[in-house]
Amino acid sequence: MEIASGIHLLKCPLDSLWTGVFVLAREKLVVIDTAFDHSLVEVVYPYLEKIGRSPADIDLVINTHIHGDHIGGNARLQRDSRAKFAAHRLGREKLANPYFHLNKIRSRFTPLVPFQEIKSGLHPQDIDIDLEHGQIIDLGDSTLRVLHSPGHAAEGICLHDSASGILFTGDALQGGGTMSTGVALYHDLDGYLLALDRVAGALADGVTMIAASHPFDPISGLVPAAECSAFLRYCRDKVARHDAILRGYLAAHRDAPDLREAVRLLLEGAGLTTAPTVPVLAYHTAAAHLAKLAPEKQWGEPL
Ligand SMILES: [Zn+2]
Repeated sequence: MEIASGIHLLKCPLDSLWTGVFVLAREKLVVIDTAFDHSLVEVVYPYLEKIGRSPADIDLVINTHIHGDHIGGNARLQRDSRAKFAAHRLGREKLANPYFHLNKIRSRFTPLVPFQEIKSGLHPQDIDIDLEHGQIIDLGDSTLRVLHSPGHAAEGICLHDSASGILFTGDALQGGGTMSTGVALYHDLDGYLLALDRVAGALADGVTMIAASHPFDPISGLVPAAECSAFLRYCRDKVARHDAILRGYLAAHRDAPDLREAVRLLLEGAGLTTAPTVPVLAYHTAAAHLAKLAPEKQWGEPL
């Protein structure tokens, strides 16, 4: 669907949710994130045809971060277009070895939580353009400003579009997370808080809409200007709530804290009634807090 003039959100199914691929049809044809390989065939290519474009027309592909649901279509797009690929420079090594990187996230807390290995659908790839915080990407008739937004992923970025005022936030703003995580997902607490501050700065500069890559609790994916500050506050409140729960737990179990129990309390505090689809993910969030609250203990090898 067209969410602003020349900007399209393509919702690619992901379990019961969706991951967003954004198409900017400007002087240059730009794609932000590529979902999964099958998403291109089933969703993206048919949509491009509908708006009178083809994959061969794509000039630039930008990955907001190097997670499987954002890079899965990269290889096919590389075959089917002459597009340049851009990502934050911290993503370079990860994209060159995606299985190693993504399975490190999945196996970090094994055997505390079963290892749900990723075995297919990814391809090693070189990045053509390394992005940095503050960089301006020139699209001819408009620009995208890069905000390095770590926390959820070290290489995470947001992109602020000069023409529409839309801020594409990828997974940088987690709200209360999604069904697959159960809670807001970040592995680096200071990084996540920095990302929230940077988004607050962008809001002060003027943002007409936040466009996130998933329907994070409590948003539908798109947040109109009038509700952006409230959503940002919701993200901060979730962090404070996690911190309070884990402080409380540590106060009672300082000598022998159990990460599994800490995660259980975190999910209970989030009001979760069913288990998250990828249980290991909530462990990252718990460990991000506990590593700061009790740095003398081991909370899984840092990423
Ligand atoms: Zn994602």
